[in-house]
Amino acid sequence: MAATTVYKEPAPLLDRENPLESMMSRFNVATEILGLDEETYEVLKAPDKQVIVHIPVTMDNGKVRVFEGYRVIHNTILGPSKGGIRYDKNVHLDEVKALAAWMTWKCAVVDLPYGGAKGGIICEPATMSAGEIERLTRGYTLAMKDVFGPDRDIPAPDMGTGPREMAWLMDEFSKTVGATSPAVVTGKPLVMGGSLGRTEATGRGVMVATLAALKKLGLDPTQVSAAVQGFGNVGTWAAKLLSEQGVRIKCISDISGAYWNEAGINIDEAVAYKNAHKGRLDGFTGAVLMENADDLLTTNVDVLVPAAVEDVITEHNAHEIKAKLIVEGANGPTSASADPIINEKGIMVVPDILANSGGVTVSYFEWVQNRQGFKWTEEMVTERADRIMTDAFEKVYATSQKYNVPMRIAAYVVAIDKVAQTYKFRGGF
Ligand code: NAD
Repeated sequence: MAATTVYKEPAPLLDRENPLESMMSRFNVATEILGLDEETYEVLKAPDKQVIVHIPVTMDNGKVRVFEGYRVIHNTILGPSKGGIRYDKNVHLDEVKALAAWMTWKCAVVDLPYGGAKGGIICEPATMSAGEIERLTRGYTLAMKDVFGPDRDIPAPDMGTGPREMAWLMDEFSKTVGATSPAVVTGKPLVMGGSLGRTEATGRGVMVATLAALKKLGLDPTQVSAAVQGFGNVGTWAAKLLSEQGVRIKCISDISGAYWNEAGINIDEAVAYKNAHKGRLDGFTGAVLMENADDLLTTNVDVLVPAAVEDVITEHNAHEIKAKLIVEGANGPTSASADPIINEKGIMVVPDILANSGGVTVSYFEWVQNRQGFKWTEEMVTERADRIMTDAFEKVYATSQKYNVPMRIAAYVVAIDKVAQTYKFRGGF
């Protein structure tokens, strides 16, 4: 057998704001507003557990390669931890820690009985065969067999993973425990216990949150325009469902560029084009290609939906934003340094932990259905998810009014308060 090579950890996150620091700066403001005691602050600041594993995988060329993988459990006071698994060459432990904490706050803000976790493996799935990815996923599952579990820690897909990987994970975990265990993971294919309504859930939540926010701003959806950055799962569904509500989607973008149509883009056409062109918009003729894709963020629209990647709204472009409302479909699209500028301009922001929580809500429904052994109809899923999103929005909005703080801080206040109160009742440190 050929020599084993350890897959190298990437360099520190020098070129962008550290996501853990971004999260902590918001966390600190919220804990001050709540007057959180020092002990609880210390408990919530650090993750409960970080597991680092090295997974040997026989590659198709016969050589063994060792991949580094993580699972960070931030907190489990509200219930088993929940969070996705990311396969990407830029996976970094600090980022996984931030995303795990985000999951704690996201679940708490929408009142799900879950804690927060996140996982990741440093790898380049695009350069790997299906067999290599399967062996990697099974190796990771085996290494995490004492971490995962329907009552302990429930993974889900994230960047670079999907139903296929979740199916392998479920199968491998089931073999180790000697019983079919669908509730150990969500985001599974429909035939093996996935939930109806999961695919569109995050985008649908973005739409519901946008409508609730427009109402507060006194704006009629049929009279407003929007730009949506990212045309993947979240972006396509958010754009499609918003356009069905009468919102004029003037601008969409993906990795190939940004596309503009003053009269409004036909989203069904754009989705069909994307599906016929390897998931990308290159060459889409229903809109004009913008010279600079980043101009989407500062273009003249009422609503901006960043639904692609982290840290796209920064101190460098926040001054230029013209939208009255930002609804964060992506996780962490606004860096902490941009917050004061956006607040100063009076832009309403529906923050990520609230705006994109429709996904984890329907993941929770999947877990509930698996445990019930009973499949819900799509109407049941949609109706319950919409109600959870609307209730959470109203609670965060009322908190922002009560403390006179932006919605982002209010969302953290709602989430941290719930977790802190639970600690008070459970005690035990
Ligand atoms: P995806 O991989 O399906 O789509 C990402 C899209 O963003 C693609 O169209 C890609 O071309 C585009 N993109 C990448 N870099 C870009 C850039 N620099 N500028 C413009 N477009 C760019 O991913 P997704 O599942 O839609 O997730 C998008 C974001 O939403 C991520 O931050 C993710 O963490 C977050 N999120 C997703 C879910 C979910 O259920 N899928 C739930 C909560 C949060």
